[in-house]
Amino acid sequence: MLTVLRNNDKGKVFEYEELTFLKVNSTQFNLQDFSAYIDAIYIDTGSLDTIQTVLQKIRSNPDNLLFLLPVFAPKSVTNNNHELGLDGKVDNSDFFMAAQRTRSIQEKISHIKAEINTEQFFENQVQIKAIQFAYTRNMPLTPLRNRESKTGYIYPFIDNISSRKQGGLINQLDSAVNKGWMQQELQDKINVCPSCNDTYLHFRDTCSSCGSIDLKYEEIIHHFKCAHVAPKSSFLMNDRLQCPKCDNHLRHIGIDYDKPSEITICNTCSHQSQETHMKAHCVSCGTESDVHEIETRSIYKYSITSLGIQVAIHGNMGTEQEEDNNSTNLVGWQLFQLYKNQETQRSMMLDNNNRFIHVHIQSDMISKLNSNAKDKFRVEMAQIIASYLRPEDIISAENVFNYELILIQPTDYFADDLMQTLQYNIEKMLGDNLQNDKTSVNISWDYLKNLNKQQTG
Ligand SMILES: [Zn+2]
Ligand SMILES: [Zn+2]
Ligand SMILES: [Zn+2]
Repeated sequence: MLTVLRNNDKGKVFEYEELTFLKVNSTQFNLQDFSAYIDAIYIDTGSLDTIQTVLQKIRSNPDNLLFLLPVFAPKSVTNNNHELGLDGKVDNSDFFMAAQRTRSIQEKISHIKAEINTEQFFENQVQIKAIQFAYTRNMPLTPLRNRESKTGYIYPFIDNISSRKQGGLINQLDSAVNKGWMQQELQDKINVCPSCNDTYLHFRDTCSSCGSIDLKYEEIIHHFKCAHVAPKSSFLMNDRLQCPKCDNHLRHIGIDYDKPSEITICNTCSHQSQETHMKAHCVSCGTESDVHEIETRSIYKYSITSLGIQVAIHGNMGTEQEEDNNSTNLVGWQLFQLYKNQETQRSMMLDNNNRFIHVHIQSDMISKLNSNAKDKFRVEMAQIIASYLRPEDIISAENVFNYELILIQPTDYFADDLMQTLQYNIEKMLGDNLQNDKTSVNISWDYLKNLNKQQTG
C-alpha cells in the first residue's frame, strides 16, 4: 500500500535521512491519505496565504497524530517562523535542521497515548491539543505582537486551530490553567473597548463641562505681593510678566511669584477648570468610553505543568474514569499519585506550604455495600469534597474509604477551615444517611514537602 501510494503521487513524498516528508504546494490535498506514512510536511510555496491555509488544515484536524505533524516552509518566506506557527524553515536543498527537529518532535509524539475524543466538547479538545502541542514542541505558547489582532497579540498555534484572529479560544488556555495543566506568566496588560473588545483606543482629555477635546493648558501664576492668582496669559505684557491687578513686574520665580498649578481652558465652551475627564475613543467601532469603563485584560505566556504533561500523554484520566464528574478538581487515582510525587519534589525544592490532606472514612455499613454502590458513593463523596476546593486544588479517591487532597499554597485560614468544614459536613451527612451505624471520619494533614521524610524515615 505504501508503494502504491508513492507511485500514484510521484514526487509528492520524499525521503531524507530515513524520514518521510510530504511535499505540499497547494491547499488541495487530503491529509488522511498520507497519515500513516509521513513524518513531516514541507509546504513548498512562497505564498503566505497558502502556508496559512495548509497550517490551519493540519492543526485543526481532530486526529492528534495529524495535527501534531511537524510543518516546514521554504526559507524564502519572509515572516517569522513562529508568527506563522511553523516548526521551522528550510532551504530546498538542506533538510538537515528540519530532520533534527522532526526527530525530536516525533519522539515526543510517540509518547502520546491519549486520543482526542471527538465526542468531547470542542473546548476540551482545544485544551488537550494545546498541551499536546506545548509538550511535543517543548515550548510554551507565547503571545506574539500582531497589529491585525483585536487584542494586539496572537498565539499562532491556537489561531491555527480555528480561523485566525479569534481571541475566544484564549479563554480555553485560562481553563487549562485552572485545571493545573498549564501555568501562566504575565506578559502584558491591554485595555479593551467595552463595546467591541478591540484594543485600538485613543485616549485623550476632554472638557469636564462640554466634553470637547479642544483644550489648551496654561500655567497659573500666583503673585506674592498682592496675592493675585490668574492664568499666565493675563500676566503677559510685551513678552514680560506684569501683574494685571497691581501693575508690578514679576521678575524672579520663587521670589516674586510661583506657578502653583496648571489650568485647562476649553476652546469650545471657554470653561476653565483644573479637572479634565480622560476618555477613550475606539478606532474600531467609534464608541467613546470613560476610563473606568475600560476593561484591562492580562496577556500571558502559557507553559505546560507536570500534571499537564501527564494529561497530554495519558489523556484526562480523571474525567474518563468518572463519567458523571464535572468537577475539574477531581482526577483519577493513578494520575493523582504521579502528580503528588512531582509536586512533593517541587514543594521540597521551593520550600512552599502546599498541603497534603488525607480523609479516611470508617463505616461498617459502607463496607457492606456492593461494588456498584461503593463506586457511586466514592464518586459522590469525592465530588462533595471537590466542591469546597479552589480551582488549583486537586482531589482523588483511592477507594470508598480513602481520599487524598493537595492544596496549592493555601492560607492557613483556608486550609484549617476546609478541614473543619469537611469533618463536620461528612460526619453529619453520614450520620443522617446511615443511622445507627458506627461511622467516623479522620482527617490528617502534613505539608507536601514533608511527605518524603515520612516515607523514608
Ligand atoms: Zn468645554
Ligand atoms: Zn500683583
Ligand atoms: Zn470599540
